[in-house]
Amino acid sequence: MLTFRNFIDGQFQDPTEDQWLKVYEPATGQVYAQVANSGSPDIDRAVSSARAAAPDWAAIGAGRRARYLRALSRAIADQHDELAETESRDNGKPLALAKAVDIPRAVANFDFFASAAEQFASESHAAPDTINYTLRQPLGTVACISPWNLPLYLLSWKIAPALAAGNTVVAKPSEVTPATAAKLGELCDAVGLPPGVLNIVHGEGPAAGGALVTHSAINAVSFTGSTATGAWIAERTAARFKKLSLEMGGKNPTIVFADCDWEHTLDGVLRAAFSNQGQICLCGSRILVEASIYDAFADALTARLSALKVGDPMTEDTDQGAVVSREHFDKVMRYLELAENEGGRLLHGGHAVKLPGRCADGWFIQPTLIDRLPNDSRTNQEEIFGPVATLQPFDSDETALALANASDYGLACSLWTRDLKRAHRLSEAIDVGIVWVNCWLSRDLRTPFGGMKASGLGREGGLEAMRFFTEPKNICIHYGQQDL
Ligand code: NAD
Repeated sequence: MLTFRNFIDGQFQDPTEDQWLKVYEPATGQVYAQVANSGSPDIDRAVSSARAAAPDWAAIGAGRRARYLRALSRAIADQHDELAETESRDNGKPLALAKAVDIPRAVANFDFFASAAEQFASESHAAPDTINYTLRQPLGTVACISPWNLPLYLLSWKIAPALAAGNTVVAKPSEVTPATAAKLGELCDAVGLPPGVLNIVHGEGPAAGGALVTHSAINAVSFTGSTATGAWIAERTAARFKKLSLEMGGKNPTIVFADCDWEHTLDGVLRAAFSNQGQICLCGSRILVEASIYDAFADALTARLSALKVGDPMTEDTDQGAVVSREHFDKVMRYLELAENEGGRLLHGGHAVKLPGRCADGWFIQPTLIDRLPNDSRTNQEEIFGPVATLQPFDSDETALALANASDYGLACSLWTRDLKRAHRLSEAIDVGIVWVNCWLSRDLRTPFGGMKASGLGREGGLEAMRFFTEPKNICIHYGQQDL
């Protein structure tokens, strides 16, 4: 049985109250590890350590911080295979996906923000006899809270810019998938990151996460997770005026036009809906298809779905692994029942999958496609966050846009068309933070990342992240002979 401890002040520590949570392997449904279930005393220790480390970390300058971040990036790359296996076992995702996406993107995050530390510049504004220049100073100690769907990838997406900008960090990974965060602590130790610069505290959301975000010495919170938790954090921190970046849920539309590149679009739409068992905030779970191609597209997509292999995540040719937990499995199954009760027609899937051998008790669900549900049904409005997508027809650009925007969420959208004018027009009009045209999940780390409406507050990525993790201070100097 593995044990994942907290990493505080450069040391692995047991939780003060000796409380532990079980960690399950989703593919087998069996407990394989325990993780610290921390409370306020552990958060206090981590925040004190981070606070003590903050002045030196800010003072060493961007160049030296960049060298530490590059060393972390290399250390992750050196352990690529081992970390991918750890992620796949902990989360249930196909090993091939962890190898191709999760771990390489964690490597890229530290590498990219090492360069960002070196390149980040602030503004100056010159006027006759006066110059204004703006300092971008670190905030001090910040909290980074991440979810279970892309564990190391999203944790590093927050930690890297926070450290690059000169802050010290207390990170709280998801208690459901703590394994690669625990390994990250080991790598910080291996590269000699000064104690206290990055502290990793495990535990349940309301207790450990709640104590962290409300701690008086935490100056900013960068959170990725559900909209309900984001709202809770916003409420509890509002009166303390902490800086907040909230990356939350989505119910993203995928809009397919009759003039799309047929094969390319089918591949893209399938990937957008079902990658990582549909457990990516950016997944396109509402597929809107132009009426003239609706039946043919539904048939072709269903045929592609039938070819997906649901299997042991550790097997190289598995397309769909397990969903992350028993609780999440039950939630997705409840939505399948709801979809049926709402009058949905199953085009594919709709059931749990029983696998033989070591995965007999794992949490597997068939990739599921449903149609004949109105856009205002709960199935089409609520985030399921599993291998479930719906199809709806539309007959004009205006209808497609209205359907796409009729959602509380506003994270991402993908458009599939050869008509460039239409693509530009709709991209402008759609209420989301990220639009992909004829592609999905193509990421350039320099671009702003985040959503609007119930999907997010603020943006991450590139200079947006460096701006979030710094406080601008304007300094105005008058050097003329005359008083102003
Ligand atoms: P969650 O909100 O349950 O948990 C996310 C993190 O917050 C975990 O570390 C959890 O322990 C912590 N947490 C929970 N309650 C807390 C509290 N009261 N105070 C402080 N921290 C608390 O979300 P989840 O189930 O882990 O992740 C799935 C959700 O994340 C989905 O809604 C998905 O759309 C969203 N997500 C969004 C993005 C994005 O970039 N917008 C990316 C990935 C996932």
